[in-house]
Amino acid sequence: MKKEQPYLTTITTTTETIKNRKYNPKFGDDKVCECGHPYYRHFDSYEQMDPVGCKYCQCYEFKEDDGTKVTVLFPGGFKPMHQGHLNLIQEYTQKHKVEKIKILVGPKERDGITQADALLLADIFMDRLYNKEKVTIEPSKYPSPVLTAFKEVENAKDPCNFTLATSKKGKDYERAHDFFTKHQKGEKYYDLLSHNVNVVKIDIDMTPIKYRDRTDEYNETPISSTVLRQDVVNKDFVNFKTNYPYENINLIVQIWTELIILENNRTKD
Ligand SMILES: [Zn+2]
Ligand SMILES: [Zn+2]
Repeated sequence: MKKEQPYLTTITTTTETIKNRKYNPKFGDDKVCECGHPYYRHFDSYEQMDPVGCKYCQCYEFKEDDGTKVTVLFPGGFKPMHQGHLNLIQEYTQKHKVEKIKILVGPKERDGITQADALLLADIFMDRLYNKEKVTIEPSKYPSPVLTAFKEVENAKDPCNFTLATSKKGKDYERAHDFFTKHQKGEKYYDLLSHNVNVVKIDIDMTPIKYRDRTDEYNETPISSTVLRQDVVNKDFVNFKTNYPYENINLIVQIWTELIILENNRTKD
């Protein structure tokens, strides 16, 4: 028997080939998409089952969920966590196949912010995330958080799929791609993996978030912890706010207060 496909397609040949996607009544209305929602919810029942995309989320195209679960490793400095990090974490938590997101916080101190401080600051944000129970924040066990991610995969004994966090257009894309490639069959790190431990790819289709409404030259550049720390050193709350354009003002003030305390301690002596 022929395997049913999620979309029936007809090819219209004019000057270019257009694929028209149509609802397939034989596919199975209750089959689950990678977004976590059923097949039939990806069509508009009021408009002759127009393939409009998922009714419950941003998912445009139905892709059948194959049941595999993934742990996302997110290594970084997080001194401190900013909007770019938060948005990426949030995108992963909303994926049905993502079971866990491990944030691996590096040990290097930056402008008086230690690893311990970074862990506490990151924790402040967790309460406002959807599916926050999927997220853990851990100190990286090795000098480099990326090395910690390699070791994490190497030491995993139970069957699991791992991926390194990245957005498709972010500056971390290269390292995530490299992490994936090195763990594929025939490559350097493949033999170190236990049976049924795999490294897979889930890239988030998201453009890195850029600064807006700043009073200095960093407008339109990607949000970064370096610029954020500079705002703290300058005690410049107006620009500091721009590191968290989607956060609630009370939360921003809370983070600001913590950072100013650290900054005052650093410059005291
Ligand atoms: Zn979907
Ligand atoms: Zn959906």
